[in-house]
Amino acid sequence: MIPGIHRPAAVYVDLAAIRQNIKEEIKHLRPDQKLFAVVKANAYGHGAVRVAQEAVKVGVSGFCVAILDEALELRRAGIIQPILVLGVTPVKYASLAAVNDISLTVPNLKWLQDSEAELSQNHLQLKIHLAVDSGMGRIGFSEDDEFIAANDFLLNNSNFNVEGMFTHFASADSNDDSYFLNQVDRFAHFKKLLKLKPRWIHVDNTAASVFNKKVHSDLVRFGIGIYGLNPSSNPAGSELKTAIKLKPAMSFVSELVQVHTIHKGQGVGYGSTYIADQDEIIGTIPVGYADGFIRKFQGFKIKVGSEYCPIVGRVCMDQLMVKLPCKMAVGTKVILISNDPDAPNSIKKAADYVDSIHYEVACLLDDRLPRKYYN
Ligand SMILES: *Cc1c(COP(=O)(O)O)cnc(C)c1O
Repeated sequence: MIPGIHRPAAVYVDLAAIRQNIKEEIKHLRPDQKLFAVVKANAYGHGAVRVAQEAVKVGVSGFCVAILDEALELRRAGIIQPILVLGVTPVKYASLAAVNDISLTVPNLKWLQDSEAELSQNHLQLKIHLAVDSGMGRIGFSEDDEFIAANDFLLNNSNFNVEGMFTHFASADSNDDSYFLNQVDRFAHFKKLLKLKPRWIHVDNTAASVFNKKVHSDLVRFGIGIYGLNPSSNPAGSELKTAIKLKPAMSFVSELVQVHTIHKGQGVGYGSTYIADQDEIIGTIPVGYADGFIRKFQGFKIKVGSEYCPIVGRVCMDQLMVKLPCKMAVGTKVILISNDPDAPNSIKKAADYVDSIHYEVACLLDDRLPRKYYN
């Protein structure tokens, strides 16, 4: 998708906040822990290469991404730190990963056997992390026999360098630890079955780390915290408290492109879901659901100049309308999503409004919106 550089709309990213959040987390790590920055999904919408470059400046030990292409993007941009692909990569690309010094996740024995065929043909060695499904129900080993067979398969197998073993928590952001502790036990069980000595045994995501969960992890897969967002899924105001201070990095900014008066009885937007009951001033903003700002935002208040104004009528594909309290000039700044966590249009409150999580709101803002970096 082509970024819209000739329209007044952009996602702004505060790089000082990104660096600060990572530095705070590095200070919070236990002495034997390292930080891998999770920059999947274009760094949660913030721009993977730029975020990775800032992360390198403040001393991260490696990166995690979701898919191989994201790892290749970082390599092409000159990132030399270890990179782990967290998802399942098709076996036929194992050699491509190996050549680019990218570590892949092993979901099961069959994947190992099939990728060995691929790698030995090309005389390559692949770095791998064994995934354990301890309760997420997503990817990884969950049966003892299969895990032991994989270990036996890997012993003295020159096509693989077993760097790590990990699991992922389903509810590290919850006050109720019972499911979390079940997963910890289940993972400990698999650790006992391990016949290899990987450098990295890792379980922590942002939540497990910043909510001080008592569990061993050689590295923290630090994702949402980089972007200054609290991983707690509780609504704004009742989130669990983080052990470190986080500063949101993202804001979504545009301008009024038209201001006009509509009269009593006139509608706004598709389906005329909003009808003026008197003369009203409507401002038009040149962004819509095609930018990832979804239709559910109808009614949400965004900041126009110094006023919070409700979005009226349905959000269109490329434009949306707000009801203004007074005449405002074309070109007036509009903050759709604020990086001030206390603002009524913070990303957290935006997510609450659309019954979602800030991860999703950030990721949905797509490539038609240029990313602009400052600080
Ligand atoms: C996305 C992801 C993370 C990072 O999670 P945050 O909540 O953003 O810290 C860590 N581990 C795995 C396996 C993931 O998929």
